[in-house]
Amino acid sequence: MAKRIVILGAAESGTGAAILAAKNNLDVFVSDLNPIKKQYKNALKNHDIQWEEAQHSNELILNADEVVKSPGIPDKAPIIKALRENNIPVISEIEFAARYTDAKRICITGSNGKTTTTLLTGHILKKAGLNVKVAGNVGKSFAWQVATQNPDVYVLEISSFQLDGMIDFRADISVLLNITPDHLDRYDHDFEKYVQSKLRILQNQRQTDYCIYCYDDPVLKKRLSSLDGGPRLIPFSLKERFKEGAWLENEKKLRINIKTEEINMDIHELALIGKHNIYNSMAGGIAARLMDLRKEVIKESLSDFQNVDHRLESLGSVRGIEFINDSKATNVNATWYALETMNRPVIWIAGGQDKGNDYFMLENLVKNKVKAIICLGEDNERIKKIFSGIVNTIIETRSAKDAAKAAYLCADKEDVVLLSPACASFDLFENFEDRGNQFKKAVYDL
Ligand code: ADP
Repeated sequence: MAKRIVILGAAESGTGAAILAAKNNLDVFVSDLNPIKKQYKNALKNHDIQWEEAQHSNELILNADEVVKSPGIPDKAPIIKALRENNIPVISEIEFAARYTDAKRICITGSNGKTTTTLLTGHILKKAGLNVKVAGNVGKSFAWQVATQNPDVYVLEISSFQLDGMIDFRADISVLLNITPDHLDRYDHDFEKYVQSKLRILQNQRQTDYCIYCYDDPVLKKRLSSLDGGPRLIPFSLKERFKEGAWLENEKKLRINIKTEEINMDIHELALIGKHNIYNSMAGGIAARLMDLRKEVIKESLSDFQNVDHRLESLGSVRGIEFINDSKATNVNATWYALETMNRPVIWIAGGQDKGNDYFMLENLVKNKVKAIICLGEDNERIKKIFSGIVNTIIETRSAKDAAKAAYLCADKEDVVLLSPACASFDLFENFEDRGNQFKKAVYDL
């Protein structure tokens, strides 16, 4: 009898996993506690896959040989507890899909910068002519691509929730961008558990594999220096120099030295602005060099990459006031880098669903750069309390339209209006894209 695979969650990754399982003649069943979107229902129907929505039927799930869980479902969910009690293995879509491909894998994780670095690395590899696909949290799911395509290399964006369900998966090249507090609500408010989850990207890596990591990140520096065995470590830093790795020289030259070949470029040539993006560019550049790509194509790709929407995305100027959409900044660390990058007085639009933020690290930047704060959240009490002694003007709004208008009225010529919320968006918006899009529209309507 065919092995029974149950997929929990029928969105991008779940539907992809179901199609891949069906293609491999497994007995597949898909269950989602919420209504399933039409596009995914159609995909399941087209592949003759059985499914249920708005419920989890124990009798159809607890008979599984293995379960693939969507990263959105927390471990505390009753169905996951029931599966564990029945000793049924629960894995992630990435773990499942990796069984069916021999393509090389470059796997990118961290608290911030994953999407940017994944797309940037994919861009370099594509430009160099490799048969590469980008997957993970971006675009079509990894499983769907494994089911339908056959590239030589995957660049995968991997979140900690995906890593939690990874057991035998192995990365040829892993990239650890940073580890700062985020999503702690899913890790019992225990930072150590979140760190452990991120470090799983290294599991199963062999001595011939590589791990590219940020040497300036205190957590990574400490954990990786005590690593026993495992992959070859390649650091990048804005402060230190290395024999092999990437670093900054005289504050303005980016150097990447891998396999005795050296890339040397001015940071002003980089397509992506901001310190955080120097890190991301270093990580992508190292990965490309480890794939033996020519330095000319790497330099060119680092300077012509088109940034992803909602990440320090300039929307242009209205009467000399520049508007920037950084809606994807859903934690304090991302906002720190956004404020750090600003070199003009800032009208800062912030707030949303607070994940237990520690705003303390922003205080100095806010003191030095921010003229006014426009709160954009249902509950803005914490932001008002923390910054009221530092910034004179704090205005509350509850829609992107009002926030853009209020910011515009507070700004003078040459100022910049920055939407970089440091919070999740789910209080007033569907998601960060919705928040960014509404903000864009509001700016264009000014
Ligand atoms: P992720 O996929 O990890 O959420 P993104 O590339 O979507 O990362 O960027 C999320 C937010 O973090 C954006 O506001 C972006 O400007 C900021 N950011 C990007 N790279 C970094 C980095 N290396 N360190 C800190 N913040 C970053």
